[in-house]
Amino acid sequence: MLTEKEYLKLKDILGTPCKVAVIMHKSPDGDAVGSSLAMKHYLEKSGHTVSVISPNAYPDFLKWMPGNKSVIDFEKTPAIANQAILKAELIVFLDFNSLKRIGDLDKAVNKSKAFRLVVDHHPQPENFADIAFHDSKGSSTAELVYDLITQLGDNKKIHKDIANCLYAGIMTDTGSFRFASTTPHTHDVVAQLMRHGAEATKVHRFIDDNNRDIRLRLLGYAVLEKMKIFPDFATGFITLTQSELKRFDYKDGDTEGLVNEPISVKGIVFSALFTEQKDGEIKISFRSKDKFDVNQFARKNFNGGGHVNAAGGRSDLSMDETILKFLNLLSEYKKELKGK
Ligand code: 5GP
Ligand code: MN
Repeated sequence: MLTEKEYLKLKDILGTPCKVAVIMHKSPDGDAVGSSLAMKHYLEKSGHTVSVISPNAYPDFLKWMPGNKSVIDFEKTPAIANQAILKAELIVFLDFNSLKRIGDLDKAVNKSKAFRLVVDHHPQPENFADIAFHDSKGSSTAELVYDLITQLGDNKKIHKDIANCLYAGIMTDTGSFRFASTTPHTHDVVAQLMRHGAEATKVHRFIDDNNRDIRLRLLGYAVLEKMKIFPDFATGFITLTQSELKRFDYKDGDTEGLVNEPISVKGIVFSALFTEQKDGEIKISFRSKDKFDVNQFARKNFNGGGHVNAAGGRSDLSMDETILKFLNLLSEYKKELKGK
């Protein structure tokens, strides 16, 4: 919720057309892209000029979203991205709580004198906003963008493109409305979005039924050959090296959702996916059920963070060393993992 003072300030800023930069986090997911493009359409409806910037590329299954073609990829065209930020009078940061998550884009942001609005649902936010529309109980940033538009009294501006982008954000961040973050309010928002024209079946098809067959073979291989289950620690994990990814013609987003496979095994409450990046760094995704807090686990041990039940991190060790470190940590966390 905006305070009275924040409401008046934002109304004042948005009262006259201005230049806006909308920035999403690195390796953006459906929520980051969906809420950023929805924000763009909403602000444009009010006469503002909006540039949407992504720190790097995102997967093909998000490219159907209206406005996708206008997104500036900082990695591909850094000068254009920096210029959009330096020209902006307002910067809207979506779906992240720390400037660390935008990589080298932070240099232009730190130079800019623009007003900073953050809309986000990650816990433990860093303080880099003039106004933070923040709720760690929100299912997704897209849900909060809807709430913000509502609080600003602009519900009537929500058209089909905004509704589809916000629907995509909520649907992807809630695992199609099944994660614990899904609330009655989430469903209320989705119902409203459908009234504003969101095409639920179409969005699910664009996102879920857009596979190359080789991607399914990668997922099959990962589960069949690479998934390890440790019932004594209620934990499962999968590792994928660069050579394995190459064998299956890996493209960004191909391993999306794979971390949910070990945790779907009965009795497993903690899962991890370790993927070797081109530069040798190991990127890690964590998921948990119930009380085991993977945000804390990732922050403390793998230089990352996220939410209680979904987080990410990284390791500069080799894959084998990273797995050894992880296995040692499992012994340390055994009591919490087994709920005793
Ligand atoms: P994923 O496993 O899908 O990449 O990320 C799961 C969740 O953890 C997302 O909410 C994402 O924002 C967060 N996350 C992933 N990587 C990092 C990281 O390196 N640092 C922080 N603070 N959060 C992360
Ligand atoms: Mn999110």
